[in-house]
Amino acid sequence: MLSLVSFCLKFRNGRGCILERAIEEEGLEAGVNLVGSGYDGTCMVCSGGMKYYFSKTFNNWGLTTVDYEKCVDCGFTVCASLLRMTQSEWVDLNQTFHSSLYKGSGDRFGREGRLDGQARVIDIFLKHGVISEHKSMLDWGSGVGGDLASRMMARGRFMYSYDRYMTPLVNRIEAPEKRSFSLVTAGAVFEHLKSRSEVDAIESLVMPEGVLGVHLLIPPQILPDPDWVYLLPVHCAFHTWESMRRLMVQWEYEASVYCHEALMWFFFKSKNGLKEKVDEINSESGGSYLWYSDGFVSATGIELPLDSTYGVLDKKGKYLYVGLSGGKVQAGWISKVIDFSSADAALASLNSLKSFDGAESFDYIYSDSVAERMMPSQFDDYLALCRSLLKQGGIHRIVTFDNERALDSIRTGAWKEFPWVRKAGLSTPAEYLNAIFRSWGHVYIYDEGALKKRLDGCGYKNVRKASRLRGRAASLYFLDRETHRIYFDAER
Ligand SMILES: [Zn+2]
Repeated sequence: MLSLVSFCLKFRNGRGCILERAIEEEGLEAGVNLVGSGYDGTCMVCSGGMKYYFSKTFNNWGLTTVDYEKCVDCGFTVCASLLRMTQSEWVDLNQTFHSSLYKGSGDRFGREGRLDGQARVIDIFLKHGVISEHKSMLDWGSGVGGDLASRMMARGRFMYSYDRYMTPLVNRIEAPEKRSFSLVTAGAVFEHLKSRSEVDAIESLVMPEGVLGVHLLIPPQILPDPDWVYLLPVHCAFHTWESMRRLMVQWEYEASVYCHEALMWFFFKSKNGLKEKVDEINSESGGSYLWYSDGFVSATGIELPLDSTYGVLDKKGKYLYVGLSGGKVQAGWISKVIDFSSADAALASLNSLKSFDGAESFDYIYSDSVAERMMPSQFDDYLALCRSLLKQGGIHRIVTFDNERALDSIRTGAWKEFPWVRKAGLSTPAEYLNAIFRSWGHVYIYDEGALKKRLDGCGYKNVRKASRLRGRAASLYFLDRETHRIYFDAER
């Protein structure tokens, strides 16, 4: 929330007005384009088809109801009505909107703190050789103020300010050369860009082995919620985890690092030695200052791999989530929160699964921490019921506590360091093991062999061990958690 309201304030400070200036100048230079933006209903990230998603009524700034469209493949969402506006309408809208915004002064939205955080982490990256000191850095769309460049100067570092439409007062560069910068940053920019060529133009400045830093909001999925605060009249492009992952693949980046203090993602052309340096920085900064992934890492720490085993998301499928917390699932899913507070309650809520659309109605079922809360015979009934709800070829992903890992942690002594163990005041391996086997309603703990035996026995086909963010159905990965779990995918 912080990150996104801070975007708005940016319009008034320095870089403010970037868009309206951009549009004005583009209009002046190229002649006002009255035929619109050329949006053709395909996704600028993956070329997938864009489908109508939802509408929002502004009744302000000269806007009434606008339509949002979403890519069926990567979830990238645009405001199609804005993309289809003529250039003069777009100019008018930006002027009207920005002139009505945030007349107050001060740093109400933490923008200063975010920029300070960005300067700090970039400085640390330079010190640790994560960003090369031998080439220049550039802040794209710096606005007049050159806020990031000024902060870097205060740390004895040089960074160019570049703005296509305004004249930066600090370290201005007029014609940056392609592929010549060790770091290119773009803060609160991507959500304003109407075409892929604009996005590519920024990335094209990053040198081989260089780094791209972006600040924007990247949720797992855009929800069809007209009240979402990010839906400003001048925000036209909304990225998702998957759309950013695909941009990384297309641009040939190898790793990402997220810094929460800076609210910034850094994408790395080369992951060579990066993980070790990030670990080093984290140990100096006390823990989880940076999140590293040799894929895309979300602001919540979920990693999406870049390799080909990461399947295509299936947005058309019908999904059922069964577990303890239905709040995590996405729009369009059916979720069943199982009440394990007593055997009767559990039985009742499991029986109510039968009330769903009947046999063979789901493409995917995700069972989250269900297995360990049932005795094997009850779990067999549950597996059979879920199998009957699946379509032929449908996938059931079963995620449960991992006995093998629990035993491993005793062998290595790692169990003593787990936060929940410390919190519970457990001090011997027996106390730890009994907690795993008896707490939270646990009645039966599986290892891989024991789980596979049950799944095979209930008639599932292609019963395969999966892992967090790996398996048969990429659409299910966002529910995966890091903690000690076994993952299995089984097919009807
Ligand atoms: Zn797409």
